[in-house]
Amino acid sequence: MNSSCARYYKLSEYYRRMSGGKKVHKVTVDAGFSCPNRDGTLSSDGCSYCDNRGFSVNTRLSVRPVEAQIKEGIERLKKRFGAEKFVVYFQAYSNTYAPVKILRKCYDTVKNFKDVIGISVATRPDCVNDEIMRLLASYAETYEVWIEYGLQSIHNRTLERINRGHTYEDFLKALYVTRKYASLKTCVHVIIGLPGETKEMILKTAKALAGLKLEGVKVHPLHAIKQTALEKEFLKGAYKPLELDEYVDLVCVFLEYLWPETVIHRLGADCPEEFLVAPMWILDKNRLLREIEKRLCERGSCQGKLYTAEGPEATLSHALRVDHA
Ligand code: SF4
Repeated sequence: MNSSCARYYKLSEYYRRMSGGKKVHKVTVDAGFSCPNRDGTLSSDGCSYCDNRGFSVNTRLSVRPVEAQIKEGIERLKKRFGAEKFVVYFQAYSNTYAPVKILRKCYDTVKNFKDVIGISVATRPDCVNDEIMRLLASYAETYEVWIEYGLQSIHNRTLERINRGHTYEDFLKALYVTRKYASLKTCVHVIIGLPGETKEMILKTAKALAGLKLEGVKVHPLHAIKQTALEKEFLKGAYKPLELDEYVDLVCVFLEYLWPETVIHRLGADCPEEFLVAPMWILDKNRLLREIEKRLCERGSCQGKLYTAEGPEATLSHALRVDHA
């Protein structure tokens, strides 16, 4: 992190640098892909917190054309924020979960938009392979290419509890394949406030991710959405959401352990009020970000303050050796 006054390395700052000072915004698209944890391949239930509103294989196949979504997104962001350059974010469900021929056709859509400078592809660690990575790397000659892995926690006990359907070791293998292609950047999604997770477990996740020197991390507070398994747990009292103050504290320590060069893609969550069950404080994202900055300031702290280059999970090869032992 090089900016003198920033307490953590924000995505907006990263975009500003990589684009030579242009206003870069993300255009979010739903390309109609499915998810093996929802379509019955691994399970039909999905992750316990997954917003499954409108999910069915049929609705997935009938989403609006990606080209129209990008066009409208660009126009909206230009008008609203004066955006100049764009990163197309393939967000919904698992955006590498299809044959390479279909993936190529989908990603190729970005070529029709001259102001697109990047692609970001969100997926699960068990939905990638070498062929898919090669395809993504082929775009990196022209675009900045990010792959975003939903990991959420390094603790397999937690992953099982929230029904992720993959392990931490699956993620390490995916990262190993990704890193064969130096042009690809990796962002990992983590959730803070998962049921059964202690502060020590959360910090262990931070230290492990720090050791992997990831290019990006996205942190979300866990929240219960209507009609999910997590809502049922909440109503039974089996899941207790974090208070704002608790989340802010945990995020600050999490950031302190991270590698200072990791770009922080986000620290909040988006959820329409009418779908949200708890905690309600996630709706005020600006307040949350202000509180995090304030707390870091009070602690005289910043991202990477407690980072140590040689932790027990310091390298990917070490982690993989442990996995294969
Ligand atoms: S991997 Fe993502 S899309 Fe699939 S069930 Fe989990 S949260 Fe939902």
